[in-house]
Amino acid sequence: MRDETRCVSRVEVSLKGFDTLAVPVFRASTIRYADAQSFATRFERGPDDYVYGLYGTPTHRYLEQKITQMEAGTRTVLTPSGQAAITCAMLCVLGTGDRVLIPDSAYGPVRDFADRELSKLGIAVIYYDPCDMAALTRELETPTRLVWVETPGSVTMEVQDVPAIVAIARACGALVGCDNTWASPLNFKPLVHGVDIVVEALSKHFSGHSDVLMGSITVCDEKLGLELKSFIGRMGINASPDDCALVMRGIETMAVRLKHASANGIKIAQWLTEQPAVARVLHPALPGDPGHHIWQRDFSGAAGVFSFELDSCSSANVLAALDALELISIGASWGGTKSLLAPVSVKALRSARPWTGTEFLLRLSVGMEAFDDLSDDLARFFAALKLRAVTGAVSAA
Ligand SMILES: *Cc1c(COP(=O)(O)O)cnc(C)c1O
Repeated sequence: MRDETRCVSRVEVSLKGFDTLAVPVFRASTIRYADAQSFATRFERGPDDYVYGLYGTPTHRYLEQKITQMEAGTRTVLTPSGQAAITCAMLCVLGTGDRVLIPDSAYGPVRDFADRELSKLGIAVIYYDPCDMAALTRELETPTRLVWVETPGSVTMEVQDVPAIVAIARACGALVGCDNTWASPLNFKPLVHGVDIVVEALSKHFSGHSDVLMGSITVCDEKLGLELKSFIGRMGINASPDDCALVMRGIETMAVRLKHASANGIKIAQWLTEQPAVARVLHPALPGDPGHHIWQRDFSGAAGVFSFELDSCSSANVLAALDALELISIGASWGGTKSLLAPVSVKALRSARPWTGTEFLLRLSVGMEAFDDLSDDLARFFAALKLRAVTGAVSAA
């Protein structure tokens, strides 16, 4: 064998005795077939067998199975982002002439996707008040293919009554899909409550370190699972095996991270209720929250993500006072180790029930830091806010 050939020839290495605790990363575009006959019949291989890198490697299978177990489903497909998990789930089950109901509180980019892409396909998109069961029941009098739920809702944190929604949707022949990113399967298992499709943004709690984008779709119905699998293959959608391994690593500490973030999140939420500048704290684990009883009934815990609203401060003062934060970063996304705060303008994202609150809600994602350091940092923000209000009043006088 010449050197140039040797450079590309295979070396056989024994794996005997190498039983690693870590998930191996298998990178592959193509795979080698034992003979021409097996290549000719490759599409007769089962859905979990290997055909081409696009349809998954053993690394993908590890993560798919892990998530399937956590969600108590039968099949999971992986997507390159949480947003892709939502759009693929919707595109797979919806067709021209169908109707979809989406909660007003859904993750913002879902509304953009539905308004622009689903409408283009001749799919009727209706937004509903996430907590108004009577209105939802009326909407379901018109034949509907899919009811989307997200609980609690993005930024405004409304808790939806999933078992009740499933009961009406079933009676009307509609499928129910759930974005479960906030709770994760550790705190809520939508499939156990009769939901047909559950989606997770793995970019959040699962990966947990703000350095991976990935999503998952899990179902119980095997026929639907196979349709999803062939749909995402046909669309050419795949997640990187390296990213799968990072998510696998994240899952191993997810329960511990979530406990810490949740406990500190609740402490910060309570601390915020005592701050004079705070009008409301939107967190379903607080006893006064409108969604508290449903959260308590259906969920086994909380995430460290919630929002709060300030008392009649000018938006300009709020944005400027946020510069006083030294520890908490300003940014979107959540579920990582470092705390993040995002001033979110809600008005443009609500249509079923117009937003009547202040222009910005402050959405906080509590990370792994200590409570005292976070409350000290937020105290710097409130001090800056107070100073601006006072100096504003002086200059107005
Ligand atoms: C972040 C998020 C998504 C989207 O996930 P990406 O991986 O960032 O695309 C979807 N749903 C919810 C509730 C989210 O918070």
